[in-house]
Amino acid sequence: MSDSQVAILERVQQFLARQHGLFIDGAQQPSRSDKRLTVWNPATGEAIATTADANSADVDSAVMSAWRAFVDRRWAGRLPAERERILLRFTDLVEQHSEELAQLETLEQGKSINISRAFEVACTLNWMRYTAGLTTKITGQTLDVSIPLPPGARYQAWTRKEPVGVVAGIVPWNFPLMIGMWKVMPALAAGCSIVIKPSETTPLTLLRVAELAVEAGIPEGVFNVVTGSGAECGAALTSHPHVAKVSFTGSTQTGKQIARTAADRLTRVTLELGGKNPAIVLKDADPQWVIEGLMMGSFLNQGQVCAASSRIYIEAPLFDTLVTGFEQAVKSLSVGPGMSEAAQINPLASRAHCDKVAAFLHDAQQHHAELIHGNEGPGGQGYYIRPTLVVNPDARLRLTREEVFGPVVNLVRVADGEEALRLANETEYGLTASVWTRDLSQALGYSDRLQAGTVWVNSHTLIDPNLPFGGMKQSGTGRDFGTDWLDGWCETKSVCVRY
Ligand code: NAD
Repeated sequence: MSDSQVAILERVQQFLARQHGLFIDGAQQPSRSDKRLTVWNPATGEAIATTADANSADVDSAVMSAWRAFVDRRWAGRLPAERERILLRFTDLVEQHSEELAQLETLEQGKSINISRAFEVACTLNWMRYTAGLTTKITGQTLDVSIPLPPGARYQAWTRKEPVGVVAGIVPWNFPLMIGMWKVMPALAAGCSIVIKPSETTPLTLLRVAELAVEAGIPEGVFNVVTGSGAECGAALTSHPHVAKVSFTGSTQTGKQIARTAADRLTRVTLELGGKNPAIVLKDADPQWVIEGLMMGSFLNQGQVCAASSRIYIEAPLFDTLVTGFEQAVKSLSVGPGMSEAAQINPLASRAHCDKVAAFLHDAQQHHAELIHGNEGPGGQGYYIRPTLVVNPDARLRLTREEVFGPVVNLVRVADGEEALRLANETEYGLTASVWTRDLSQALGYSDRLQAGTVWVNSHTLIDPNLPFGGMKQSGTGRDFGTDWLDGWCETKSVCVRY
C-alpha cells in the first residue's frame, strides 16, 4: 500500500471512530437527544460508527441557524460570481477527497468501491460543476405591460428570481452522497440555505462533505446536516415553519406523507419517488446491446436505483435468446463485499431492506414462479441477495406490481410491442422506461406513448445533469436538473415601475 493509500485509510478510520454530532452553524454540535444511531457495514453486519439521532429541538436549532444565515443575506447577498467561485472551490475539495468519500460510501452503503469511485463520486463532481455554473445564469425577463393605461403613462416591468429561503433536503440511502448533493448544490447556487437529513442508514458522507463546504468558504449556517430518524427528525424538519421548500427523494409512501404535511403550510415541495420501470424489447433489437444495457440497468447498485429496469417485456421471437443471454450474464456475476474490487454484486444496504427483498422472492416461490438465480454471497452476516431473473411472473405476484428495489428483474414474453406498451403503462408509477429497437420510427412512437418522465432508446439509466429528471403519476412531482433547474429553488418576483 502506498503512503497516500495508508493516509486515506487512516482518515477513514478516524472519521468512523468520531463521536459524530450534528453539523449546525458551520461546525459539529452535540445533539440534545441522548439517543444514538448505529451505522452498519452491509458486507459484514458489523457496527462501524454511530451518529446523533436528532430530536425536534435539534432540528429547530439547525433550521434557525439556516434561517439566520438566510435573513442576514450571508450567502444570498454575495454576488453570483462569488457564490459560483466558492461552489467550484467546494467541488475541488470534494474531488481531492474522492477516495476517502468513496470508501465511506462503500463501507456504509455496501455498493462496489468501483461504483463508488467511478459512478457515485465521479457523477457527483459532474453535477456539482454543472450546478455551480448555473449560479451565474439565474435570469429574469423584461416585460411590456398590456392593459389599457391612461394616455401618457409609461411602465417598465421585469421579473427577478430570488432564493426561496430555507430548504429542507431529505435523502434516501441508495446514493447518499450524489442525491445529497442534488439538493445541496441547487440550494446553494440559488442563494438558499439548507438543512439536509441523510437516511439513518447512510449518514456519513454528507457529514464529511459539510466540513469541506466550510473549508471552501461557504458561510456558517448555510449548509447544515441533521442525522436522525424519518419519524422524528425528518418529520420535524419538513413541518418546520421556517422551511420554505422541501426537496424529497425517497419512497412514494413517505413522499405522500411529506406532501400532506407541506399542504398545511403551502410549503413548496419537489418529490422524486419510486418506480417500477419497464423496458420494451422489440424483435429487431440488438441482443448484445439489450443484455449489456439491461444488466446494467437492472443490477447497478444491486438494483437499488429508482430508475432501474425491473420489468423487461420481450417480443416473442427474441424471448428465448434473451432469457439464455441474461441467464449466462447473471450466473457470471461474482458476489461479494463492496470493498473487493472483483465483486460485481454486493450486499444490499441494510438488514431490513434485505429482508424486504427476500420476502418478495419468498412470495414468488410460494406461487411457483420460475426463478433463475445467480451466485450466492459469501455467507456470514452480510446482507446478500442473489441476483435473480423471474421468468414470466404471474400478475398476482407482489414483484410484478410493487417496487422491489433489489437485484431482481422480471423477463416477460409478449406477442408484440402493443402488448408490451399496454403492460408497461399498467402501473401507478411513471419514472423511467426504455425501448430497444433498430427502427427509429418504432422507437419514437413508443417513446411518445410510454408514461414516464424519462424514456431511453437502446439504453437504460443514463441520467445527466443537463436532462430534466422526475416522475409522472406516483413517481413524483417536479423535475430536477437541466438549465432551468434553479427555477424550483427561486421565487419569481414581478417589479413594475411607472416612469
Ligand atoms: P424512504 O422514503 O423510506 O426514506 C427516505 C428518506 O425519508 C430517509 O431519509 C428517511 O429517514 C426519511 N423519512 C422517512 N419518513 C419520513 C417522514 N415522515 N418525514 C420526513 N422524512 C422521512 O426511502 P428509502 O428507503 O430511503 O429509499 C428508497 C426509495 O427511494 C425507493 O422507493 C426509491 O425508488 C426512491 N428513490 C427515488 C429516486 C428518484 O430520483 N426518483 C432516487 C433514489 C431513490
